[in-house]
Amino acid sequence: MSAENLVRACIGVIEPYGSLNRPDNKDAVWLDANESSMCEVTRCSGGPYNRYPEEQPREVRRRYAAYAGVSEREICITRGADEGIELIIRTFCEPGRDAIMIVPPTYGMYEVSAKTLGVDVKKVPSIAETFDLDVNAMFAALGGVRVIFVCSPNNPTGMRVKKKSLEAILEATQHHAIVVLDEAYIDFCEKKSLVKLIQKYDNLMILRTMSKAFALAGIRCGYVLAQEKMIEILLKSLAPYPVPAPVADIAQAALSQRGLKAMRKRVKTTQELAQQLFKALTDVAYVKAVYPSEANFIFVKCLKSRKVLKRLAEKNVFIRSSGSWEPLTDCLRITVGSEQENKALIKAMKEIEEEILR
Ligand SMILES: *Cc1c(COP(=O)(O)O)cnc(C)c1O
Repeated sequence: MSAENLVRACIGVIEPYGSLNRPDNKDAVWLDANESSMCEVTRCSGGPYNRYPEEQPREVRRRYAAYAGVSEREICITRGADEGIELIIRTFCEPGRDAIMIVPPTYGMYEVSAKTLGVDVKKVPSIAETFDLDVNAMFAALGGVRVIFVCSPNNPTGMRVKKKSLEAILEATQHHAIVVLDEAYIDFCEKKSLVKLIQKYDNLMILRTMSKAFALAGIRCGYVLAQEKMIEILLKSLAPYPVPAPVADIAQAALSQRGLKAMRKRVKTTQELAQQLFKALTDVAYVKAVYPSEANFIFVKCLKSRKVLKRLAEKNVFIRSSGSWEPLTDCLRITVGSEQENKALIKAMKEIEEEILR
C-alpha cells in the first residue's frame, strides 16, 4: 500500500494533458502551442507586494471591458482561460450526475477539467470536412448536459461557428444548460466576436485570454464574460486573489491604448505570415489539405502524420499532433511562427518528402 493509492478514481484514469515538457534547447522551433513568437518586454511596477492584490483588479477589468464591449461587472478575471473552464464546470455541474458536451475535434482541456471533477463528457463530433456544428445531433444528446463548450475560432481547425448555429443552441438550452463560447483566438478576427449575445442570453459565457494575440502566455491571464448575475455566481467559487499583482500590472499595460495598438499590429503581421505559410504548406507533397484558418495556427491533413511529427521533432521543429482530436488521426496543427521559424519548418518538411511518400 502506498500513498499513491489514495488518489480519487477519476484522477487515476486521466492521461496528463499533452503538456509541454520542453527540452532546454535554444535552437528548437516551437510551433506546437499557438503562442506568439513576437515578444515585447513588458515591465511591471516592481512592487511593493506585501499586501494581497485586489480580488478583481479594477483597472484591468475596466480596460478589458472597454476593449471587449461589455460592462465592468460582466467580467471575471482568471488565471488563464483554463481556470475559467474549470471554474464553469465546477460551478454548474454536479459530479457523478451532470455532463458537459464537447464538439470534437476541439480544445483538450474541456475534457481534462471535467474528468478531474468527476463530470461526464458527451462528445458530438462536428460534421466531417466542413467542421460545422452538427446542431441536430447536439440537440439529440442534451440529456444530462449542463455545460456545452463551443470553440470559435476552433482549436485545432481554425474555423468559426456560424452565429445562426450558436443562437439555435442558446435558444434550445435556455434555462437548461450553460453554453460556453471559447473565443481564445477572437482577437485575430475581433469584429467577428459574438460577445453582444450575452445581453440577450443569460446562459452564454464567453472565454477570452491574453495568451494568444496579446502574446502573454507567460502571465496566465484570462477572462469570462457573461451577464452580471452570472459573473457574481462564478466569483463565489473562484479561489481568493486569483490575479497576482505583477500579472495585473502587465495586463493593464497590455490593455492601454499603446498595448492595444501593438496587439493589432501583431495580429496583422501574424495574418500576413499565416498567408505565406498557408501557401508554402500547399506545396509540401505529403500535405493533402490545408484548412483556412482565422487564428494564429493552421490545420493540415497529411500522410503519415505520426511519422512527420517524429521526424520534424528530430530536426528540432515541434508542431502538434492530432493524438487527442478523435476522430481525426491524420492531421497536424501548426502555429504560425516568425518568418525564420516558418522557413525552418517548411525546409524541414521538404527534407522528409521522399521518405514520407515512399
Ligand atoms: C490556449 C487556449 C486556451 C487557454 O488559454 P490560457 O488563457 O492560456 O489558459 C483556452 N481555449 C483555447 C481554445 C485555447 O487554445
